Amino acid sequence: MAETLVRFEGVRKTYGAGGPAAVQSLDLDIARGELLTLLGPSGSGKTTTLMMLAGFETPTEGRILLEGRDIAHTAPHRRGIGVVFQSYALFPHMTVAENVAFPLSVRGVGRAERDDRTRRALAMVRLDGFADRRPVQLSGGQQQRVALARAMVFEPPIVLLDEPLGALDKALREEMQLEIRHIHQRLGVTMMYVTHDQAEALTLSDRIAVFEGGRIRQCADPTMLYDRPADAFVAGFVGENNLLPGIVASRDGDEVSVRLRCGPVVTAQAADCGGTGEACLVAIRPERIAVADADASDLGERAQPATLLEAIFLGDHVRLRLAFDEGGEVLSKRPAGIGRLPAPGGPISIAWPEGAAVAFRDASTKV
Ligand code: ADP
Ligand code: MG
Repeated sequence: MAETLVRFEGVRKTYGAGGPAAVQSLDLDIARGELLTLLGPSGSGKTTTLMMLAGFETPTEGRILLEGRDIAHTAPHRRGIGVVFQSYALFPHMTVAENVAFPLSVRGVGRAERDDRTRRALAMVRLDGFADRRPVQLSGGQQQRVALARAMVFEPPIVLLDEPLGALDKALREEMQLEIRHIHQRLGVTMMYVTHDQAEALTLSDRIAVFEGGRIRQCADPTMLYDRPADAFVAGFVGENNLLPGIVASRDGDEVSVRLRCGPVVTAQAADCGGTGEACLVAIRPERIAVADADASDLGERAQPATLLEAIFLGDHVRLRLAFDEGGEVLSKRPAGIGRLPAPGGPISIAWPEGAAVAFRDASTKV
């Protein structure tokens, strides 16, 4: 087990009296050297969590430990934590090198060492030739690389990044995701990264804590999160999922038979769901739903009759909107260029492998 660098213990945060908690009873460990991402929709408490670790917000309850020490009474600048925000927050009147050197100047690091560390930090983010430029002479991506160099130049124990790529366009964002991942791998620096973008979280992270309503729903590595979501929220938020409402018709150990609201009865693995009569959501990943001509037998006896509503070509894959004959829609996804499809409105068979359907408790529905 890697050493714990940061520990949140029963941390709760309410802004003002009587309001709902922005963060509720948070327990979370960050290991030295890991890149942990806080992933969740807007307003789920990610920034509040980050700001409490940085020292810009104070927990209402609970403790935050950095290297085993309670940091409640340590001022932000004494925590020695690097922070990068979505807005670059570079000093416009300073050159790139002066911006990066700033945390070293504040700490009284001598000239020679300052220049040396600044040069290495700029090389790390591939801005060697940009030392004398001003921020306005840089693109958005370059400015954010300067911000990253500035956050890392004093070798902090942990770097916090709050939606640092949010202002960049898609191609640049994806390039920067890989760059941050490679810097993390090369230097082994501990990072806590905040994003609402699940693809970004999957790309970057050693582990992901999924936030919703101020709570962590699940904290796991990307594969685990995708393959074994703990609840319907995580199943729907990480990757795409069909979430079909229904009622448990019968339960046999870990397997349930569910009557979907749209008609069909399906068998599903019981992940986190109740017994007979309870409301549930059956999750099936679009890429696990196979389709074939209605008269083909290659899907086996599990095939369900359906109608192809629409096929959407997206270059590398095709998205198929399908309707069960008894009603209700599902999405299927498959590589482009394989097999033929009937025209929209035509009959089709759909099936998924045993185990691909997983039933979760449906907290939103009262039976
Ligand atoms: P996220 O970063 O996941 O979008 P935040 O941590 O910013 O979420 O916000 C969590 C909740 O706390 C939201 O309901 C938000 O409106 C509230 N909140 C955040 N900052 C403040 C503040 N300074 N004053 C009052 N409420 C706040
Ligand atoms: Mg935020």
